[in-house]
Amino acid sequence: MKIAMLARNFKLYSHQRLKEAAEQRGHELDMINTTRCYMNIASRRPEIFYNGEKLGHYDAVIPRIGASVTFYGTAVLRQFEMQGVYPLNESVGIGRSRDKLRSMQLLARDGVGLPVTTFAHDPKQTEEVLEVAGGAPVVVKLLEGTQGIGVVLADTARSAKSVIEAFRGANINILVQEFIKEAGGTDIRAFVVGGKVIAAMMRKGAEGEFRSNLHRGGSAAVVKLSPEERSTAIRAARSMGLNVCGVDMLRSNHGPVVMEVNSSPGLEGIEKATGIDVAGKIIEFLERNAKVGATRTKGKG
Ligand code: ADP
Ligand code: MG
Repeated sequence: MKIAMLARNFKLYSHQRLKEAAEQRGHELDMINTTRCYMNIASRRPEIFYNGEKLGHYDAVIPRIGASVTFYGTAVLRQFEMQGVYPLNESVGIGRSRDKLRSMQLLARDGVGLPVTTFAHDPKQTEEVLEVAGGAPVVVKLLEGTQGIGVVLADTARSAKSVIEAFRGANINILVQEFIKEAGGTDIRAFVVGGKVIAAMMRKGAEGEFRSNLHRGGSAAVVKLSPEERSTAIRAARSMGLNVCGVDMLRSNHGPVVMEVNSSPGLEGIEKATGIDVAGKIIEFLERNAKVGATRTKGKG
């Protein structure tokens, strides 16, 4: 196969590992800097240019689109989709996963367990919103935050009220969520590839930190999932329409609840914690599925 990988920093562990895994299996993988692509949206023959040349044929494209370039990156990916190149994850799925509110609504529609989550526009409704979320402590989240930045724990009703009013006053969209205290600063990342959980880890936040993101100094260890956790992760991936994703869950008193679904999950933490060749499993998924014309959306949506 000839595979294109859309990425920005070619040196990242995840990107290097995917290239290595593809080459080990006899494929060719070109890393393409997403933001340096430009496009010709001509009817019937969508083209992509890169480094002054028109890109040739690829069998598959691996989008590794950073949260800061979602808009442009998904547009480039749609161009590949219109050409019939098989995307590891489709642009629509990536778009959904980048908006926490939209993701929560899709997951809720399909009955996936979630923390009680509220959303409101008007800061005048703060008290009611807090009440619906079960009262303080609550977690306040920016809709498009990532790596734990933009996730705030408000311990008391007074701090929750002022944090919500501050964000809304600055016209920033937020979710207000029930704080799952019993998770004890840990969360579970289930790595889903092609409708199966192929690896899972438990992450624990640094001392005194409720956020377990590895980027915030958290640590990871291998974990055995319960059947319910496994099926929750698989259902979440299906609701979002993602072939490959990291489903982040909390172990709550009322079962597993999904916090977010990551469409470009990092490989370093999960491979190192579990010893599983995740990159290899992703390439094997492409081998099984990247057939000409198998793209479902063809850039639509
Ligand atoms: P990000 O996209 O920035 O990673 P998350 O929604 O995944 O944002 O939250 C970051 C971390 O904060 C989670 O991994 C988890 O450890 C903690 N966290 C988030 N929401 C809750 C919650 N409702 N209850 C308890 N802990 C939470
Ligand atoms: Mg997260």
